[in-house]
Amino acid sequence: MEFSQNQIDSIVQSVVAQMQGTTPASAPAYDSTQYNGRQYLGVYATMEEGIDAAADSYKVIRNMSVEQREKIITEIRKLTRAEAEIMAKLGVEETKMGRVEHKTLKHILVADKTPGTEDIQTEAQSGDGGLTLVEMAPFGIIGAITPSTNPSETVICNSIAMIAAGNAVVFNPHPGAIKVSNYAVDLVNRASLAAGGPASLVCSMVKPTMQTADVMYKDPRVRMLVCTGGPGVVKSVLSSGKKAIGAGAGNPPVIVDDTADIKKAAKDIIDGCTFDNNLPCIAEKEVFAFSNIADELMYNMQQNGAYFITAAQADELAKIVLVEKKNEKTGKITYSVSRDWVGRDAKKFAAALGIEVDDSVRCLICEVEEDHLFVQTELMMPILAVVRVKDIDEAIEKAVRAEHGNRHSAHMHSKNIENLSKFAKAIETTIFVKNAPSYAGIGFGAEGHTTFTIAGPTGEGLTSARSFTRKRRCVMKDMFHII
Ligand code: NAD
Repeated sequence: MEFSQNQIDSIVQSVVAQMQGTTPASAPAYDSTQYNGRQYLGVYATMEEGIDAAADSYKVIRNMSVEQREKIITEIRKLTRAEAEIMAKLGVEETKMGRVEHKTLKHILVADKTPGTEDIQTEAQSGDGGLTLVEMAPFGIIGAITPSTNPSETVICNSIAMIAAGNAVVFNPHPGAIKVSNYAVDLVNRASLAAGGPASLVCSMVKPTMQTADVMYKDPRVRMLVCTGGPGVVKSVLSSGKKAIGAGAGNPPVIVDDTADIKKAAKDIIDGCTFDNNLPCIAEKEVFAFSNIADELMYNMQQNGAYFITAAQADELAKIVLVEKKNEKTGKITYSVSRDWVGRDAKKFAAALGIEVDDSVRCLICEVEEDHLFVQTELMMPILAVVRVKDIDEAIEKAVRAEHGNRHSAHMHSKNIENLSKFAKAIETTIFVKNAPSYAGIGFGAEGHTTFTIAGPTGEGLTSARSFTRKRRCVMKDMFHII
């Protein structure tokens, strides 16, 4: 195999740093370029250099066999399992969000259940006219934007799928999670190198910004854009004029009717809602409960680590964890989440209200009306609002409104097939989980593959290798059919 100058420089840098074994006295032990003196592979000063390196690597990977690509993926899985806890700790330390034990599980889920090259399937049609093949081909270089909420998980999950499809990748990770995102970029490249692949198969940069994302949008060598993030960034990617996949925001509602196993529903909802302190976009964000079971549901939630706060306390908390913005022209007031509160532990929210709770408290619950900000805002915090409804029609109407047309995720606890079907049809979400915690929807403890890029707006659904391919047809006239 031939190496480009870029790749040789990366390898030399990495080997020298490893031989030195220690970090220079002035350098921090860990930043967006190195971890304890180990220089990251594939991390560049500028987006242009990142794209140059990805272009070199694409030339290498396009000539690799599928078996060779699968070897790289096997190595990525191996390293991800081995370093899951390190990345979980680094992620929590850098972003101040989430929980180490849950982030560790998320990395292991990515390693175990992200499909590899087996997801790439050829279609064939044969008959009197010969044989026609439709193959799933790589796009080339993919530009990927990743979030702060599942940073290294998304980098690794995207890398497995995109490499399985034969692409090279350049990432513009979330600036607030750049250190751990680049750790993951390096992990993928270490795996690639160990399996005989290029040393910069996936690339990133030291300091990503909106401007570096813009360079990625405009460079003609980047053939596809994939964005996992909030509404602003998804919109910017979809306006780029390039083939793009958008995995945007959600605000998943949960309905609990009076046929549900209420004890189990309460436990499932709290388990899902508190997973990684509610950071996953699929996690339960508000509950619509039938009036006749609402008290029993909330009682059982409290038996499972929820702490009940009054509606007045919820109003007080909203003023702390949400930021008010006034549109100068229209005077309209909107609210968004305060970055200082996203993904924090439940006890911090209790403390903000002057309540001291121990670590067994996993989230705060409250009973409010439908129009409450805790119902209508995608909080990504362990705070769960419960709204009382009289019947299934009212529940569906309110849940659909709270989901805001994101068509992302929704969940329901019921044994009534009619109610379940009615809600599933009305809500039109990419993921609909019945009688389980939300994370069952990404294959955690349930059937189906996993992904951390759920593409509702552009329709790919739970992305996998095939989402990052283009179809190419090859026709052999009259020949090569054998009957
Ligand atoms: P975010 O939207 O704040 O940031 C995502 C990335 O986009 C960052 O790198 C950020 O710097 C960059 N960015 C933001 N606006 C941009 C613009 N106009 N142009 C270029 N880059 C821009 O996301 P976050 O807070 O890290 O993640 C949380 C959001 O992402 C939530 O809304 C969540 O639901 C969503 N999310 C969705 C999925 C999914 O699979 N659908 C997965 C994870 C997160």
